[in-house]
Amino acid sequence: MTIVRSKSSLIFCFLFLVSAFTPVKGNPDQSLINHSAYRILYINSYHRGFSWSDEIERGMRKVLSKSNLDYELSTEYLDSKRFDYKKIEDSLFETIQKRYENYQPDILLVSDNNAFNFVTQNRDKLFPNIPIVFSGYNNFTADVIKGIDDITGINEKIDVRALAEMAIAVHPKTKALAFVVSNESATNQKNYESSIATFDQLRKHYHVEVLLNKKQDEIAKTLAMMPEDSLVFLAGRTANKGGDRKLSSYEQGKLVVDVSPFPMYTFWKFHLDSGATGGYILSGVVQGENMARIALQIADGTKASSIPVMMSTPAEKIFNYEKFSTFNIDESLLPSKAIVLNQPKALWDEYKYHFMTVIILLVLQMILILVLLVNIRKRQQALHSLDIERSLLESRVLERTHELNLANQKLERLSLEDGLTGLKNRRFLDDTMAKEVAALKRTKEPLSIIMIDIDFFKQYNDIYGHVEGDHCLKAISASLNISISRPRDVAARFGGEEFVIVLPDTHEHGANQVVSSIFRRISDLNIEHGESPFNQKVTISAGMVTVMPSDQLSLDDSSLLVLVDKLLYSSKDNGRNQVTRSVYEEVLDQENVDGTAENVTHIDTKRILENSKKQL
Ligand code: GH3
Ligand code: MG
Ligand code: MG
Repeated sequence: MTIVRSKSSLIFCFLFLVSAFTPVKGNPDQSLINHSAYRILYINSYHRGFSWSDEIERGMRKVLSKSNLDYELSTEYLDSKRFDYKKIEDSLFETIQKRYENYQPDILLVSDNNAFNFVTQNRDKLFPNIPIVFSGYNNFTADVIKGIDDITGINEKIDVRALAEMAIAVHPKTKALAFVVSNESATNQKNYESSIATFDQLRKHYHVEVLLNKKQDEIAKTLAMMPEDSLVFLAGRTANKGGDRKLSSYEQGKLVVDVSPFPMYTFWKFHLDSGATGGYILSGVVQGENMARIALQIADGTKASSIPVMMSTPAEKIFNYEKFSTFNIDESLLPSKAIVLNQPKALWDEYKYHFMTVIILLVLQMILILVLLVNIRKRQQALHSLDIERSLLESRVLERTHELNLANQKLERLSLEDGLTGLKNRRFLDDTMAKEVAALKRTKEPLSIIMIDIDFFKQYNDIYGHVEGDHCLKAISASLNISISRPRDVAARFGGEEFVIVLPDTHEHGANQVVSSIFRRISDLNIEHGESPFNQKVTISAGMVTVMPSDQLSLDDSSLLVLVDKLLYSSKDNGRNQVTRSVYEEVLDQENVDGTAENVTHIDTKRILENSKKQL
């Protein structure tokens, strides 16, 4: 609140400063006067608040304001309904004369008879040669404007016959009609006189009472004598007078309605307010609209006298719903285009805007829900496709990981395999040897190692070439590979045409079987070797050692290889195509052959020699 207040006071200060420093151009009062505007003087016979002439004024102002005419409207009220016009006529003349002696209007618009009479009688003195348009002139006849120039307008005439016919149609059982009329004013006199013929015609079919200049009590007495199905028409005034002022039209209507046991019909809207059942209501609004339209034509240059007076008076068939049940009115008998006032609004009419607001809100809410649903669906679809994408990605990653693993495995295998023979390579052999020799110190199982070398392989290459040599190497490798069967057995290429077979957990006896199997298989290969002394076939030489387990084994893997190499060379030295075997056991406190260690690693040379003599 504080912020709003301080904001608005800021704006106010700003506007004040702007206006304070804005230079005033000329005399501000002078600038308000529009000298070129078309000056209209409207003279109303009655007063503000009198519905009939208020409606005329409303219709007139509506049409004028919607037109393109640049006009300035002045209004004078003669107030002749409430006060005696004759008494103030002269002073009205003086007032208006003084007001307008320096301000001549371009046109005079008048409503109802007194204003008409005022301008037509005083025209030469007040408004010479100013065109006049009248409205609401009762029972107009052409002789009324005889000798008056530049004048036209709209007739106001009640049609008693039309009103009676309309009412009888709504009350078909009607037997009697009562007309409240008067001749105490010029207008009422004219209305009465023009209706006399109609009364006579109606008498042919109905009992007709004409209540001329009757007071309320007289009217009440007459109506009380009338038959049940009667109708009352207020076509003038009662003879009742007010005290300090005249009775208003509303009060006149009330006087009759209050004593009438029958539906009352009228020509004027204010009697509907008094409690009339309906009427053929003269439309003040349409009178005013037509008067303004004629004024526009004159402003446009048309001579008033060339526009004919409108003789027909616009009227509307209006009924008061509040009287329908009192007088058992059948709505189906109402004339077409009937307007029903005070009708209880249908639920829809009563709460139309509430309903529409609720409906619009509901529709908006539904649209919002739909948009949200569509969004949720889109989101779900997006999430679903994201899920698919993710699982695809995951499976791709898995696939790639698997491929990578395979490649790694392959790489590892390749890194541990000999490219030519497919046996394990030297690296793998070294690892295996180290591992198995270490295991020897923990387990109680012996380890057998076989080293193999192809005999006269240099000559083989020389004779058959290296490609054949490679084939030979592959064939022998295959024989070695299938000669070992246990998972821990390893056949490896040691280098060139030399191979090593590691047989963990294998006694001498078992290793002998493997060696025998290898020699047999190679013999079975039956590879031709032109330079071989052994039936010109490829042969091998081998060294084999079985190392017995010991807690304090000092032998390491490389010295074990040296040992088996020595055994192999024993076989070579002894003529090739044979195996030299040995069993290695550590004997404490014995002298090492090489004499290199204190805890002597003893090679049983005797046994080696002995074994090497054995030919396979
Ligand atoms: P010994 O009977 O004393 O073993 O005589 P050898 O000729 O077999 O032995 P040497 O050490 O003199 O020659 C080994 C030959 O093995 C030399 C080389 O031509 C051959 N060799 C080594 N590696 C390969 C190989 O990968 N492919 C082929 N084709 N030959 C090889
Ligand atoms: Mg060799
Ligand atoms: Mg060799």
